[in-house]
Amino acid sequence: MDHLERAAGAVVGSAVGDALGAPFEFGPPGAFSARFPAPGSGDEMSEGGGWNAGEATDDTQMAVHVAESLLERGGLDLPDIFTRFLRWAADDPKDIGLQTEDVLTRGLPWDQAAVAHYRSSHRAAGNGSLMRATPSAVYFAPKGRHVTMDAARRIAALTHGDPAAWEGTAIFHDLVRAALSGVDPLDSLSLTLSAVHPDHRERYAVVLAPDWHPSQATESNGAVWACLGSAAWALRTTRGYEDAVRAAIDLGGDTDTVAAVTGGLAGAVHGLAAIPTRWTEPLHVPLPGSGGRVLRLSHLLDLAHGLAS
Ligand SMILES: [Mg+2]
Repeated sequence: MDHLERAAGAVVGSAVGDALGAPFEFGPPGAFSARFPAPGSGDEMSEGGGWNAGEATDDTQMAVHVAESLLERGGLDLPDIFTRFLRWAADDPKDIGLQTEDVLTRGLPWDQAAVAHYRSSHRAAGNGSLMRATPSAVYFAPKGRHVTMDAARRIAALTHGDPAAWEGTAIFHDLVRAALSGVDPLDSLSLTLSAVHPDHRERYAVVLAPDWHPSQATESNGAVWACLGSAAWALRTTRGYEDAVRAAIDLGGDTDTVAAVTGGLAGAVHGLAAIPTRWTEPLHVPLPGSGGRVLRLSHLLDLAHGLAS
């Protein structure tokens, strides 16, 4: 499998996980497999929770804005990404994370808004910077571990002032980098962790350990640690893309985001061809802040190819 097949798997895989998990958000564990007991039943891409069947949520919408900024600006332009986020938030997205909304509606400049939020709330370690990181992970992967982890931190910091969110997003970037190169990203976890800021290394080592289970999480999977740990668990304990996202959604809670993160990783590992076409066919990404565009699979593939080349 080549790099492009894995890159497309990551970008599409994250969007599919997001759309598949959206109707189950805030639901109990096991809700997905209770409704769809047998894999492959065909109608899993369902409506619910205000989402149409196949409709991707804020996770993918923000990810696409990051992707388009990277491609149109020819690299990392943080003020430009922030401006796109502002335009998106002002265009009435169906869903927006609490921290993200607070930061994007403060009227502060790109390099002050998240800092101000963290200073006043002391709570900014949600999974909202992790959920949108797949395109940037694909884009920066060829530049190596330290460059891609640094880019992750800087994009995360646009909306999340807590360094725990930066480090979790940086770890995700490096796991995707490893997967795109064709190795098992969990095999090189100790090298990834060695590049994490020492203040945060131990806590991530716990949730990424081979024997960790999501039931051991000390916070909800709306938090960055449990979300990333759950995605790694779903990848580690399954053998294909479909089973990985099923496992992620069956954890309950923040199902769209846990499945978006899992889907990005599993798509990079297993490749585009592993993602069922019955899930990619209804997939669509309404994109607030873009003049009413709605992206389909072909657009996401164009983005993935641009990011990977
Ligand atoms: Mg969402």
